[in-house]
Amino acid sequence: MISYKTYELVNKAEEEVQEEFKKIDELCNRNSLKVLQAFRDNKISTVHFDSTTGYGYDDLGRDATEKVFAQVLGAEDALVRSQFISGSHALSVALFAYLRPGDLMLSITGTPYDTLHEVIGIKENNSSLQAFGVKYDQIELVNNDFDYDAIKNYLKKNKVKLIEIQRSKGYSTRKSLVIDKLEKAIKAIREVDKDVIIMVDNCYCELVNDKEPTEVGADIIVGSLIKNLGGGIAPNGAYIAGRKDLVDLAGERLTLPGEGREVGPTLGINKSLLQGIFMAPSVVASSLKTAILTSKILEDLNYQVEPKWNEERADIVQNIVFGNPKDLVSYCQGIQMGSPIDSFALPEPWDMPGYDDQVVMAAGAFTQGSSIELSCDGPIREPYIAYQQGSLTYAYGRLGVMFAIDRLINNK
Ligand SMILES: *Cc1c(COP(=O)(O)O)cnc(C)c1O
Repeated sequence: MISYKTYELVNKAEEEVQEEFKKIDELCNRNSLKVLQAFRDNKISTVHFDSTTGYGYDDLGRDATEKVFAQVLGAEDALVRSQFISGSHALSVALFAYLRPGDLMLSITGTPYDTLHEVIGIKENNSSLQAFGVKYDQIELVNNDFDYDAIKNYLKKNKVKLIEIQRSKGYSTRKSLVIDKLEKAIKAIREVDKDVIIMVDNCYCELVNDKEPTEVGADIIVGSLIKNLGGGIAPNGAYIAGRKDLVDLAGERLTLPGEGREVGPTLGINKSLLQGIFMAPSVVASSLKTAILTSKILEDLNYQVEPKWNEERADIVQNIVFGNPKDLVSYCQGIQMGSPIDSFALPEPWDMPGYDDQVVMAAGAFTQGSSIELSCDGPIREPYIAYQQGSLTYAYGRLGVMFAIDRLINNK
């Protein structure tokens, strides 16, 4: 089924990355301690698996789950809800909660994630922030780092209400931002502006570095539960965590003014969310190991990769530059073949809503759209980059990558 050459390539690469794997194991140990301590401190018990229906008043499990998330994220408070339909929805709720007509929003990591374009009004939409009179501006990154001078000058000249920082690269070719860089940028911002709300799109980055943005001065962070913190178990949802007043404001926007966070039935998912964050340190570690192995093998095969296998990571995403559409498609097809769900389907490039180019997408996941499970996709445009992420266990990640490499090198 899998050629001998592929086995050899994978085994050789695996031997050479053991030092990096050891670092990941240590990270997993530290994060597991963090999570376990949050369960202990909040006295989590089976009563918290009970849940509410209807309005969802007095949902003990929901409130305890939010406390656990807040502690793991080093945040004052957290809103963790299945009523957020995605990470993008939570980002949108947060932006609409904090920005009012006449306010100015500034991104200091260039153009934000694709799904936010219509939220902000970068792409026209009658319901965008811009349509409500919110102004927007952005400062580009330079050499994969913040443009400190430009940011400081901008803040001296303009009254900015909210700064958005996107840590993970999304569908771009820049590097994702490690926590140390973020800390430095937040310090620089605070030198000139003590009041501006610093909001971080933390998608794909949770538990990858030792600290979360809320521990280095960010006011509010947002992420999806079908990525890192859901641990592959949360069926859907997202979180907003950080300063209590800002978390409360987001609650008023998610439900309705006056009821805010006090409502929202959990419909049986409390146990899944708790079990998900319990598994998250280990699932993130498996994803990181799968990414490191992938990076090493593809580099050995002379493809350009980002990040490199021994580079410090800020997220679970691995880019592979294939340089031609055939290799990109073959690789994605191999990932699909090595997936537990729909392994028999062969993905082909397709027109997707919201994308300018065709996209090839391998996603054989238990949860629809989940990208903490092994998945890989890429737009069919120069230089034909695959974005691979996730894996519930390292053994399955290794197998998935083996199928992909096999299909790639046998030129199918
Ligand atoms: C995935 C992602 C989002 C949006 O998350 P969804 O849950 O897919 O809506 C936002 N920003 C970044 C950087 C992401 O990677």
